[in-house]
Amino acid sequence: MPVGVAVLDDWGFDFEKAEPIENQRMTVLNATSLDVIAHETFADIKQQYGHAALTFHRVDLHHGLRDLATGPEGEHHSWGQPASLHCGNAVITIDCDRGTLELASGEVMKKDLLIIADGAHSDLYSQFTGEPDPIKRIGKSLYRILLNHAEVLSNPNTAHLLTSYPTAHKGFFSALDPVDGAYTITYPCRSQSPVLNVAIVHNTKPSPEASSNERAEKSWQSPASIAEVLGTIHNYHPDFKALISLGKDDDDIKIHHAMRRPPLKSFASGRALVIGDAAHLMMPTHAAGASMAIESAGVLEVLMRDVTADSPAEVIQERLKIFDRLRVPRCTAFQILSNEGWMSQAQPEVVAQIREQGFHGWLPGPDAGPWSAEFRKWYFNHDARAEAKQALRILKDEE
Ligand SMILES: Cc1cc2nc3c(=O)[nH]c(=O)nc-3n(C[C@H](O)[C@H](O)[C@H](O)COP(=O)(O)OP(=O)(O)OC[C@H]3O[C@@H](n4cnc5c(N)ncnc54)[C@H](O)[C@@H]3O)c2cc1C
Repeated sequence: MPVGVAVLDDWGFDFEKAEPIENQRMTVLNATSLDVIAHETFADIKQQYGHAALTFHRVDLHHGLRDLATGPEGEHHSWGQPASLHCGNAVITIDCDRGTLELASGEVMKKDLLIIADGAHSDLYSQFTGEPDPIKRIGKSLYRILLNHAEVLSNPNTAHLLTSYPTAHKGFFSALDPVDGAYTITYPCRSQSPVLNVAIVHNTKPSPEASSNERAEKSWQSPASIAEVLGTIHNYHPDFKALISLGKDDDDIKIHHAMRRPPLKSFASGRALVIGDAAHLMMPTHAAGASMAIESAGVLEVLMRDVTADSPAEVIQERLKIFDRLRVPRCTAFQILSNEGWMSQAQPEVVAQIREQGFHGWLPGPDAGPWSAEFRKWYFNHDARAEAKQALRILKDEE
């Protein structure tokens, strides 16, 4: 989304290499009749908010970020030594107060700052909070499938799904089953040889292992087949089923089980900071999880830019306090709204929860849909790095 893209742009991210596609519309169809339920275009996002909304293939985004972290100083940044990666060597324990971590290899390290970014299924979360991890399945699961975009376009039963509805712009194209709510989200990524990313949110099917076995209940991913997916979308229009049938069992289709944690009151503890899904796990309702993570990384970079190995520990503590003050309200507001669902800002108890988390700014009105102009303004009209620079200026003026 533009707020995350702005940070990548500041960092000199190689967009050409990552080949994202500009996201300019959201169309929701009735999955059975294929009637249009909702349609929004937003081709002017770049003009309005300075950066486009982009869809990436996850691996391309990862590669671009890795290149930035490990590459030499770039034209746009001068953040010191390239990072060194320890792939396949998980962090198994952390001590937030002492700033130590232990890798699976047995190596122990002591650092000025630990950044915990181990995602939704964080093993380090409970070491960070000092409490048992409250993560819970929410009864929803997602199938994730990648389709060859060219194949969809060349198939007479499926091509019209991409070409016959309001199609002047590329972007999200979704279908909602009016009977049992199975909801499909599709979007293209990779501009040179596009793939169609498909996620199908549905009610989790009971499994004997899950009810009898605590480990299975906590498992977040299991294998699936195209036949199973077709069974789940049995109310869908035959042409949508034809679209899913273009997927292949060999593509290693996975069911991702959605989980929830309550919002954290603080992202900092001792010498540690938690960031991304580990800090604010949310449903993909507003496509905001990665954007919030990238925004937070952008804020952290601003706040830590002048901190060196010789800086006293108090300086890091001061900066973490600012990070918390700026990021907890915004990230947890998105977490609450995304977990409670579309237009949940209309529910007073949801608004009360957001206010309790310290977010006191304006919220979209009760009728603002997730991609409506009002919601876009709330989401995109925010310059997190400018806010961090301002907070740092005030801190330095006070010193
Ligand atoms: C179906 C779906 C669609 C989505 N669509 C969007 C979207 O359109 N826009 C958006 O902004 N967000 C979207 N999201 C959310 C987005 O994917 C996440 O918010 C984002 O990936 C979070 O990034 P992260 O780095 O915090 O965690 P992850 O991407 O999960 O990365 C965590 C990393 O930590 C590593 N790790 C785990 N444990 C350890 C350990 N002990 N030691 C070392 N490393 C460890 C993992 O291997 C992994 O590489 C979507 C999510 C889903 C499920």
